[in-house]
Amino acid sequence: MATNSDNDRKFDAILEKLGEMAALDFSTTIPTDEEDNSLNAIAMGVNMLGQELENTVVEKTKLESTNKKLEEFVYITSHDLQEPLRTINSFTDLLATQYQGKLDDAANQYLAYISEASNRLRDLVSDLLDFGRIGQNSTLTTINMNDVVQNVVNDLNQLIEENQAKIKSEQLPELVGYRKEIHFLIQNILSNAIKFKNETPPLITISANDNMRFWQFCIEDNGIGIAKDQQQKIFQIFQRLHGKKDYDGTGIGLAHCKKITELLGGDIWVESTPKVGSKFYFTISKQLGK
Ligand code: ADP
Repeated sequence: MATNSDNDRKFDAILEKLGEMAALDFSTTIPTDEEDNSLNAIAMGVNMLGQELENTVVEKTKLESTNKKLEEFVYITSHDLQEPLRTINSFTDLLATQYQGKLDDAANQYLAYISEASNRLRDLVSDLLDFGRIGQNSTLTTINMNDVVQNVVNDLNQLIEENQAKIKSEQLPELVGYRKEIHFLIQNILSNAIKFKNETPPLITISANDNMRFWQFCIEDNGIGIAKDQQQKIFQIFQRLHGKKDYDGTGIGLAHCKKITELLGGDIWVESTPKVGSKFYFTISKQLGK
């Protein structure tokens, strides 16, 4: 299925072609017998591109409407799941406290399993709710990315110290975007860079490049890395490459990040070598708010 990013890329390619055509120098003298042919060819090209652009716009609109309905569905379902989940949690707690010492080992073990599973379900539902809320009630503001990184580093202070992580940030730009979402984006990539560490303490570098219509950021780590055939999968919701016993988490963080970069008119991807490290790239459009 085509994704928003695929369509955006198609859009960009079409716009680029139209730009090239607009830049054609019509003042150049073309021999008369070739003139009609050249203009006809250009007219045909413009028609074809126009048709392609129209098709892509229709496809993009349909996809956006399907995504919106899906998001609403996820939000409503996860919201409604919270109530029965609270009931399960509170009755499991009641059973455990009021029947303490009265149950045999097997019953206690079953209770512990129920409690663990319902806690995990609570975390998943809460992540789904957050996912549905991305971009809701957000307003565009001017953001200094150095400040965002500093705030994230402060928030992750305990994790950073526990893992003896070193974080180096180059000079980052000021841009227009959604503050809360960008904070979450950086926090998630940074905390993953620390969590999925190798034997050596994490060494993480944050940098940015001016990429014409986008700001392109890179967060590089020296962690366990990701095999090539898994590098797309990790951006899908609830997709994880490791069991919960090896690394804690629900597998929604990078799906969140993907949705945020789309909201910011950009994209996210990874380049990685197993056992060497990963480079997470993301872009933010410079056109936001214009
Ligand atoms: P979670 O961290 O909860 O598992 P994410 O969506 O943030 O969920 O990440 C999905 C998966 O991608 C992780 O489970 C892990 O396998 C892989 N991953 C993410 N970041 C890194 C990283 N910096 N290095 C190695 N693997 C990573």
